[in-house]
Amino acid sequence: MALLEIKNVVKRFGDFTAVDNVSLSIEAGEFFTLLGPSGCGKTTLLRMLAGFEAPDEGQILLDGQDMSRVPPEKRPVHTVFQSYALFPHMTVRQNIAFPLKMAGWDAKKIATQVDELLEDVRLTQFGDRYPHEMSGGQRQRVAIARALVDRPRLLLLDEPLSALDAKLREQMQLELINLQKEVGITFVYVTHDQGEALALSHRIAVMNNGQVEQLDTPETIYSYPKNRFVADFIGQCNVLDAEVAAVGGDDTMTIAIKGCGQMRVRAKAGAAPGQKGWFALRPEKIKVGRALPSDADEAHFKGRVNDCLYRGDVTIYMVEVGDGVLIETMLPNSAPGLAKLFDDDDSVEIAWRFDAGSFVTE
Ligand code: ATP
Repeated sequence: MALLEIKNVVKRFGDFTAVDNVSLSIEAGEFFTLLGPSGCGKTTLLRMLAGFEAPDEGQILLDGQDMSRVPPEKRPVHTVFQSYALFPHMTVRQNIAFPLKMAGWDAKKIATQVDELLEDVRLTQFGDRYPHEMSGGQRQRVAIARALVDRPRLLLLDEPLSALDAKLREQMQLELINLQKEVGITFVYVTHDQGEALALSHRIAVMNNGQVEQLDTPETIYSYPKNRFVADFIGQCNVLDAEVAAVGGDDTMTIAIKGCGQMRVRAKAGAAPGQKGWFALRPEKIKVGRALPSDADEAHFKGRVNDCLYRGDVTIYMVEVGDGVLIETMLPNSAPGLAKLFDDDDSVEIAWRFDAGSFVTE
């Protein structure tokens, strides 16, 4: 049985449907992320898991129990917010101990539990400090420790890193991954930051307009977006006009990419000849060279470098192929020295394997 089951949940505010018939289940021990643009309904869904909002329709089951009549403070669920929400007049120890004190634990047991949590969030030396004496990242670790101290079944995290600068955020991402592994508690994480979602999660639900567009592992979502929205929302992507030409008996099919011609790609379930859509292809999946050997498993084009964007670690080369089609490619600047491989107007060849991208529809 899944730890958490969300069944056909709907939430409306007046005429507006913020969460539109969402169903998904989350396994015990998962790091699960709700990812989507501002206004897609992810926070509203999280608030229903916490009990701050009630669904208009559907059910939320935790360990098989319907949560609809259970108030927030009675659920084995805690929430960590972007704004830390620590008690300013209490030390770190007192902040973390607070839920246990409220629950009437004895002082010795509280001390042992708080020590353990301080170690889990690597703040053992900071127990006697006050929140204002700590950095943003440290404060957020205290908030997380306090939310974990009575071992909830579920920890909800609502954009917990968005107040931190980029470097600290990356460091905190590593800490969160390790902490979740260590404590083994199920995390449901809300973010609009796709990089964060890809780095942290076991699985991601990509949301848009109150609905789940795709639910998969980070690798599948990134490499094989299911539709146009996911392809555009996550990372850089070539999205080329395409039409299904033929569907075969194997796990490939043939599509015609406008201005490029026909090629074999991964089959899409339910695709039919004549169906229009797009071919979604990540820039770094494309080979670029002065001359590339031909390969039956690859689409192959001669082209010309139109623009170069040097980014330090990689360079983006915009390559014009076929009938004026611009394809974004990306190569690591991994050679020693100044390592610029191509210049504007260079003749190049590009190639990608039949399974490098995916045919997507609306
Ligand atoms: P953000 O990242 O900006 O917080 P989100 O994806 O978390 O966005 P929600 O906060 O879930 O989005 O909001 C979804 C939609 O529901 C938005 O259009 C929002 O304006 C609307 N909404 C949320 N709460 C209420 C409310 N209490 N009353 C009316 N409308 C609301």
